[in-house]
Amino acid sequence: MNTFKIEVQKTASSRIKDVDWNNLTFGKIFSDHSFIAEFKNGKWEHMRIEPYGPLCISPASPVLHYGLTILEGLKAVRNKNNEALLFRPQDNAKRLSVSAERVCLPSVPEELFMEGLRELIHIDREWIPTAEGASLYIRPFVFATDACIGLRRPEEFMFMIITGPVGKYYSEPLSVKIETAYTRAAKGGVGYSKTGGNYAASLYPAEQANKDGYDQLLWTDGVHHRYIEESGTMNVMFVIDDTLVTPELTDSILAGISRKSVLTLARDWGMKTEERPVEVEEVIETLKNGKMTEAFGVGTAVNIAPIAAISYKDSKRLLPAISTWKTAPKMAAALEGIKRGTTEDKFNWIVKM
Ligand SMILES: *Cc1c(COP(=O)(O)O)cnc(C)c1O
Repeated sequence: MNTFKIEVQKTASSRIKDVDWNNLTFGKIFSDHSFIAEFKNGKWEHMRIEPYGPLCISPASPVLHYGLTILEGLKAVRNKNNEALLFRPQDNAKRLSVSAERVCLPSVPEELFMEGLRELIHIDREWIPTAEGASLYIRPFVFATDACIGLRRPEEFMFMIITGPVGKYYSEPLSVKIETAYTRAAKGGVGYSKTGGNYAASLYPAEQANKDGYDQLLWTDGVHHRYIEESGTMNVMFVIDDTLVTPELTDSILAGISRKSVLTLARDWGMKTEERPVEVEEVIETLKNGKMTEAFGVGTAVNIAPIAAISYKDSKRLLPAISTWKTAPKMAAALEGIKRGTTEDKFNWIVKM
């Protein structure tokens, strides 16, 4: 029995027949329906599923002026038995509430998040691609809708979930630049919250780096640019001296679900792992002396993204050839296998819907 009453209004004409399943691009195709809940008078109400389409909100909504919005990102796949598999969705629900608190948005109860997700995935299950590597990207988000441009804690909000099929993520190994001028997230700031402004602030520096021929930035701390934080919108990991090393979580690093899953798997394999401050100096030094053998980004969108080159102050250093790597390829296969239901889910990460 549902804990929440969700009204369902189905679309009169599905758009699924228009989808070019062989050419799925990221983020432009959306499934037939979306889930919506509204927060008014201190509680979530009017839970519903309706046809995906434009919203009607006040031009004074704080989301439009002050960026009062938070988001999540996860994926669903279909297994051989036609069941939808989700990877650790409760962790996305929990993180949404962590993000919410920092920017004065209401938390979404985990049961509401899961119930809305379950209903939506059920109704649009045909939209989950079956092709190898493809998946249904799921975007839950919360934003302020008060009709008031006063800067104060808002009182009215929407929680929505939209979804859309995405193709196999494939990227050439990345060439990244250690950023020493711009900062993604400050100490005491909102870097640990998946809030809109973080992404707005990262776009221009990333664009500058692209112009200079880099795929992505390696963000450093905002105080002295001395410690590595993240790569683009991924967490970052290094294999140094056969140890898996990643920056320890601080308030300027987003606590990735991929990050913690990779750490868990590596420990389970008996690999040494370290979560600690990683100095830029150490990265350059171990690249030079050959102790760094692998570097990669980890995140839901990419799974594992190998880094082929790291540049610092215009000097570029290459990682060893990817064909010699042991950890990242094994990790990518292990994570994919669990997510797709083809290997044992030893840690009970998968939720079937
Ligand atoms: C979402 C995100 C990540 C990765 O989180 P996952 O839960 O692994 O997808 C890492 N860094 C930033 C800045 C992010 O927004």
